[in-house]
Amino acid sequence: MSKTLSVSAIQNGTVIDHIPVGQALKIIHLLKLLETNQCVTVGFRLLSRRMKLKDLIKIEDYVLTEEEANKITVFAQEATINVIKNFTVKEKIIARMPKTIEGVFICPNAACITHVEPMESYFYIEEQGKAVKLNCRYCEKPFDRNQVKVTI
Ligand SMILES: [Zn+2]
Repeated sequence: MSKTLSVSAIQNGTVIDHIPVGQALKIIHLLKLLETNQCVTVGFRLLSRRMKLKDLIKIEDYVLTEEEANKITVFAQEATINVIKNFTVKEKIIARMPKTIEGVFICPNAACITHVEPMESYFYIEEQGKAVKLNCRYCEKPFDRNQVKVTI
């Protein structure tokens, strides 16, 4: 048995691999994986040849939509998203950074109108090399992706 196989293989579903350490929980909330009936396996701080350490998420019997895959890139630009069928990789989902993201994050600015009015948050996403900035549509402030909190 391989040492790297610290999370068991799944028969069918989606594997999100090479997630930067610390981002898996955000992705779980982002995809609302706790609200579904899918069996989800998460690995934190697993050894990775490519990244030294990584997070990993396996979702059984569910194939991510392109939109969901795109959202993941906000937190994990280099994540590998594989569709698994009968324990083998059937397809790689090529995700692209979305231009906007709606209703998922809480604006870190306490004075932002989104905290007062019953409205969804809305951010414009800006890629600056390896950094990802989220600009609030309403208070017009820019935030680092590590500053925004996911709504639960
Ligand atoms: Zn705001």
